[in-house]
Amino acid sequence: MKSYRKELFFQIPTRRAIINITQQVEACIKESGVKEGLCLVNPMHITASIFINDDESGLHADYERWLEKLAPEKPHSQYQHNETGEDNADAHLKRTIMGREAVMAITAGKLDFGTWERIHYAEFDGMRKKRVLVKIIGE
Ligand code: ZN
Repeated sequence: MKSYRKELFFQIPTRRAIINITQQVEACIKESGVKEGLCLVNPMHITASIFINDDESGLHADYERWLEKLAPEKPHSQYQHNETGEDNADAHLKRTIMGREAVMAITAGKLDFGTWERIHYAEFDGMRKKRVLVKIIGE
């Protein structure tokens, strides 16, 4: 069995953003040489998510509005977590809603995806460097 590990780095210039990282993960799969296996992708941070959905700008704007209704960033004082001196309680909550990781099947050396499935990195507390783990196992 082959095993491959890589860290991707992101520094998002805004507090929140959703970016399509499918091509970067595809490059990892190619580099791994794995033809049949599984690929795990997860942020190594608790205020960001990896999720799979449509890369459509209207939908991404809908996520932003929906998450702001569920866990509005402001006022910061509404959250007990922010009493520690942080201001990112909303980012922890948004990450929980959008999930931690995605696991994908690799078949014949490619992501075995439905037509509109794309891998996204969702940042909820940006403007600093963050790491994403890509782990691939298979043959
Ligand atoms: Zn925090």
